[in-house]
Amino acid sequence: MNLNLKRHVEDENSDLPCHFSHQLCLHSGPDVDAELRDTADAGYEVKLLENYVSRHFPRLESKPSIVESCIYTMTPDCHPVLDHHPIWKNIVIGAGFSGHGFKLSPAVGHILGDLALNNGSSDFDVTPFRLSRFGNFSKANL
Ligand SMILES: Cc1cc2nc3c(=O)[nH]c(=O)nc-3n(C[C@H](O)[C@H](O)[C@H](O)COP(=O)(O)OP(=O)(O)OC[C@H]3O[C@@H](n4cnc5c(N)ncnc54)[C@H](O)[C@@H]3O)c2cc1C
Repeated sequence: MNLNLKRHVEDENSDLPCHFSHQLCLHSGPDVDAELRDTADAGYEVKLLENYVSRHFPRLESKPSIVESCIYTMTPDCHPVLDHHPIWKNIVIGAGFSGHGFKLSPAVGHILGDLALNNGSSDFDVTPFRLSRFGNFSKANL
């Protein structure tokens, strides 16, 4: 969820007020079906951020000028899957980054490269990222 917030500043060299825009993000939201993403009600999250802004940034307008929401795939433990496909060993999976995959990309690239080329990673223990950790969790079945 991204909120754009306006800030009014008096410019001492001008009679006109200046407007600055700030962006605030909340990394959570309601569960949605990807096909129905635009119908999700994010009112609760917007209110939460408005209250946060009022409390912590009193010089900002707490009502957002723009609200945008986007979706990402969450795994049950919020960690990605970095593994071979359980049946088709020539397929390497890197998925389920739960909204924090970008910052992991150098290490993830290294691990996925090792899985593809060397059948495993010599530099990292990838046990916590195996697909099998979810047991029979139906959405993780391939
Ligand atoms: C709103 C939002 C905020 C985020 N904020 C953060 C953050 O603050 N910090 C952070 O670390 N991570 C953040 N992330 C998560 C991060 O962006 C992802 O974890 C990361 O981009 C995943 O990388 P990826 O390469 O697996 O997939 P992607 O970046 O999704 O790349 C997949 C690529 O494959 C292409 N593609 C798909 N299908 C096909 C096809 N059939 N043929 C050819 N190409 C195809 C797509 O167009 C895309 O370019 C955020 C994600 C979202 C959505």
